[in-house]
Amino acid sequence: HDGAADALVLFGMTGDLAHKKIFPALYGMVQNGTLNVPVVGVASSQLTRSQLHARIRKSIKASGRAENAATLRELLERVTYVSGDYNDPAVFGRLKEALGPARRPVHYLAIPPALFATVITGLAAAGLSDGGRVILEKPFGRDRASAHHLNRIACAVFPEDAIYRIDHFLGKEAIMNILYFRFANAFLEPIWNRNYIDSVQITLSESFGVESRGAFYESAGCLRDVIQNHLFQIVGLLAMEPPAYRAYEAVQIEKTKVFRAMREIQPDDLVRGQYKGYRKEAHVDPQSDVETFCALRLFIDSWRWEGVPWFLRSGKCMATTAAEVQVQFKAPPQKLFTDTAPADGRANYIRFRLSPRAEIALAARVKRPGKNYVGEQRELLMMNEAADSDSPYERLLSDALAGDRSLFATQAAVESAWQALDRVLVEHHKAIMYEKGSWGPPEAEALLGRHGPWHRPCTDPNDAEPI
Ligand code: NAP
Repeated sequence: HDGAADALVLFGMTGDLAHKKIFPALYGMVQNGTLNVPVVGVASSQLTRSQLHARIRKSIKASGRAENAATLRELLERVTYVSGDYNDPAVFGRLKEALGPARRPVHYLAIPPALFATVITGLAAAGLSDGGRVILEKPFGRDRASAHHLNRIACAVFPEDAIYRIDHFLGKEAIMNILYFRFANAFLEPIWNRNYIDSVQITLSESFGVESRGAFYESAGCLRDVIQNHLFQIVGLLAMEPPAYRAYEAVQIEKTKVFRAMREIQPDDLVRGQYKGYRKEAHVDPQSDVETFCALRLFIDSWRWEGVPWFLRSGKCMATTAAEVQVQFKAPPQKLFTDTAPADGRANYIRFRLSPRAEIALAARVKRPGKNYVGEQRELLMMNEAADSDSPYERLLSDALAGDRSLFATQAAVESAWQALDRVLVEHHKAIMYEKGSWGPPEAEALLGRHGPWHRPCTDPNDAEPI
């Protein structure tokens, strides 16, 4: 299953994800020469060729990419479309015809997960899975059992090394940099453990609401939508042991060990919130208890992390759009100077800004000039760059076509990442209402105890890019 693919099949070509992310990514790939195969779309809408082209143009325009007539023409020439219901086996026959001589297609399932099984079995029955690969969009299940079930369906047809589970966070420059920064430097390792680290905070916030995706959000909620996948992946990279050898499986193995060592989260470790007005959004139950915010406390029961709390929070309609990690070091053993607040244990931290800019900063106190020992906290900004020149989807789709799985999740990682959440997915406190534009309910602050307060991610008016 290594090597280059010879076609890309896009199930869900008329969907929201295709519009927002996939077409712009394909356009970028044409531009940088990584899309050299035909693209066949499959969805139920009846579309003429010109309607299809109009959709693609609209999507590229909406993405804000500079339009280049030759690039667009090449993309449109590559794309064909098969319409029909996935429940009708004839669709797969028509797809086979459209694929012609292609023998190593990549099937991208950008469709509601409830249809994964239908499409995978349809592909197998039509002989389109042999030699092919499959890309599965998140979410991978709703809990551990359903993730396992989904994996069984996929693994019954495709070998594990032909299954690409996409978590677009893993294709982000700043996320890849966490792995690099940790293991390309020697100074971190001696202090990267329970002896020196007090706690870790991760914030992933969006300043907007559910927009047109109310129906999807009602079936998911914040825990399923971003915590189990994006935030846990960040925890995995920050907490993992050094990979034992230089191959992607080694990274996957170490991350999976972190997920397995996560202590099961209890109802009191979790604060669920809902922004005021969520219940009035389109396709949302007027009595919904679905959380649009959550803050949780997590422990990793390993030698390195024993006793270190990890605080994760994410929400919609927050004060700003940001993704930031703060690794908080312990206070100095003695307090020699009186210029810091009595409870100030926050002298040193490492801050990773992940989105939309990529920053890495180290905070330390330095003395101000003058007779007295009075100082201030400064950040040494080691990196401050625009996070991604191309979208993560562009990178991940190119990788999937080339047969490179290093930025995709394995079955073991996905299933083990669910286990810490299994209890609170069903047993939890009610969602607490919070104001739009805030940082969630005040209860989230109390969760931190002596490790608080929550770090406020830097705000930048240009930071409007969705996560
Ligand atoms: P969507 O807008 O509902 O699109 C669904 C697509 O599937 C449409 O192209 C639809 O075709 C097609 N489809 C549905 N049922 C079909 C059937 N029975 N037969 C044939 N085609 C059928 O969904 P989406 O938001 O794009 O999401 C797709 C996947 O990406 C999901 O797994 C989602 O969780 C994931 N995802 C989405 C986003 C996002 O921002 N949208 C972000 C991350 C991950 P027709 O409309 O032509 O019927």
